[in-house]
Amino acid sequence: MKKHNFYAGPSILSEYTIKNTAAAVENFAGTGLSLLEVSHRGKEFVAVMDEACTLVKELLDVPSTHEVIFLGGGASMQFCMVPCNLLNKKAAYLDSGTWASKAIKEAKFFGEVEVVASSKDRNYSYIPKQYTVSPDAEYFHVTTNNTIFGTELHRIPDVGVPLVSDMSSDIFSRPVDVSKFDVIYAGAQKNLAPSGVAVVIVRRDALGRVERPIPSMLNYRIHADNGSMYNTPPVLPVFSALQTLKWYKEQGGIAALQKKNIDKATVLYDEIDRSRLFTGTAAVEDRSLMNVCFVMKEEYRELEGAFNEYASARGIVGIKGHRSVGGFRASIYNAMPQSSVEALVGAMQSFAQTV
Ligand SMILES: *Cc1c(COP(=O)(O)O)cnc(C)c1O
Repeated sequence: MKKHNFYAGPSILSEYTIKNTAAAVENFAGTGLSLLEVSHRGKEFVAVMDEACTLVKELLDVPSTHEVIFLGGGASMQFCMVPCNLLNKKAAYLDSGTWASKAIKEAKFFGEVEVVASSKDRNYSYIPKQYTVSPDAEYFHVTTNNTIFGTELHRIPDVGVPLVSDMSSDIFSRPVDVSKFDVIYAGAQKNLAPSGVAVVIVRRDALGRVERPIPSMLNYRIHADNGSMYNTPPVLPVFSALQTLKWYKEQGGIAALQKKNIDKATVLYDEIDRSRLFTGTAAVEDRSLMNVCFVMKEEYRELEGAFNEYASARGIVGIKGHRSVGGFRASIYNAMPQSSVEALVGAMQSFAQTV
């Protein structure tokens, strides 16, 4: 039985990505060698890296002021690379979830961090909206989608200082005005590729302003100047990322994907809102289109384990909620077909009839 994969990350990838990656592991670009055993400096792989960067630029309409780079270390490495490259004295951060708070922790190694607002008071179930950012902050860091808590920034804030964003779990899910950002970064394993790489979009003239010396491997400029080949890049994840990007283009680009994402999320949230058994955990106006968090209503809470088993017998996997929220989380990234969301909704409905 084909599984309906709702895992939060690493997570579902398009069949196109999986098939082409598997084929390249056998025979890469007609070389007769595996993707795993060729030089990253050979012309075949250099072409992969170049095309991946070009497609990120094309799909997200990245202005010529910005560079696209692929870096190892995942999104968590960016928690320290961002302040290392951009924070001289002071930066502002929005504390909207676990990943945001980890970004804050790392930034504090480099300078003063102003946490302008936090939604920790209600277990990060909403996006804080009433705050001001000091005009002397060098950047304002936001997490556009809070993977664990199922909340998303539906409006990009306009605060008078450059933005930096962790878009790990919603990059490529909707159009974004890249010109408003000094840095956008995303770990690949939610909406792009296997884990092991992050895509980073950085404004060139935001670099070179800090006084500290920056170790080479942490220096955006060095990676940008070397075409993401300063050291050996994670070749397999980059190859897979290229396949996903090609598939996104074939799907009609980011606006078309956004439309599908809205349709998928609507079907699921409608069921949660109509259901006798289930209820959503995130503030309605801040609900994520990528990670849908819900629990069983108080009086049915003890049935959560039973529903998990019921769903898994129907090929629905990965819906167990993160331990800090409990209940369920259905991650419905770009590669998730509408039919899988409908399978989940069907299971929710038929389970309700047994109660
Ligand atoms: C998954 C995730 C991370 C962590 O990514 P790593 O690649 O494991 O470091 C950071 N931020 C967000 C929003 C995430 O969803």
